[in-house]
Amino acid sequence: MPTAVVHVLLTIIAIDLFRDYFLPKHHLKKFPRWMVLVGGIAGLLPDVDMPFTWAYNFIFGTNVNFHAGVTHAYIFAALFLGVAWLLHFMKKEKASMLFAIIFFGYAFHITLDFFVLGGAYMPLWPFSAFQMPRTFISLDHLFGLDAILLILWLVHEEFKHKIKDYI
Ligand SMILES: [Zn+2]
Repeated sequence: MPTAVVHVLLTIIAIDLFRDYFLPKHHLKKFPRWMVLVGGIAGLLPDVDMPFTWAYNFIFGTNVNFHAGVTHAYIFAALFLGVAWLLHFMKKEKASMLFAIIFFGYAFHITLDFFVLGGAYMPLWPFSAFQMPRTFISLDHLFGLDAILLILWLVHEEFKHKIKDYI
């Protein structure tokens, strides 16, 4: 994972930019700002296998690693999308939007992990045991990326929403 902070930041930024520039204005009501935060947290969900690994090793005195296992498969993201569709047909538009955002955060995480060097994972499980190699960027090169992202985003928010008015 490209560090937890980068995961959350990139997901929040992607969702917020979508909300600010691409979402038709009449849809804003079913997409309140707090949903952006939920999306950011969903961007961390696939890494629940990390605390699970720590807890498992602590309890059983083992040294196993569940990280980047089945939770990094798109099928789990698709489950949230399925719920979103269901809610859409039930005319529960706001709840549907919420699950669509969680779907995005989850799937975005799995996709982002592809860019960070180290090991491999199985995004197509259980349909295929294809091992996606993790390539391109080593973690060292990501050093400082979280700070740069945060500053750029804060600058954007300052100009777009005048966040200083809220402080
Ligand atoms: Zn991950």
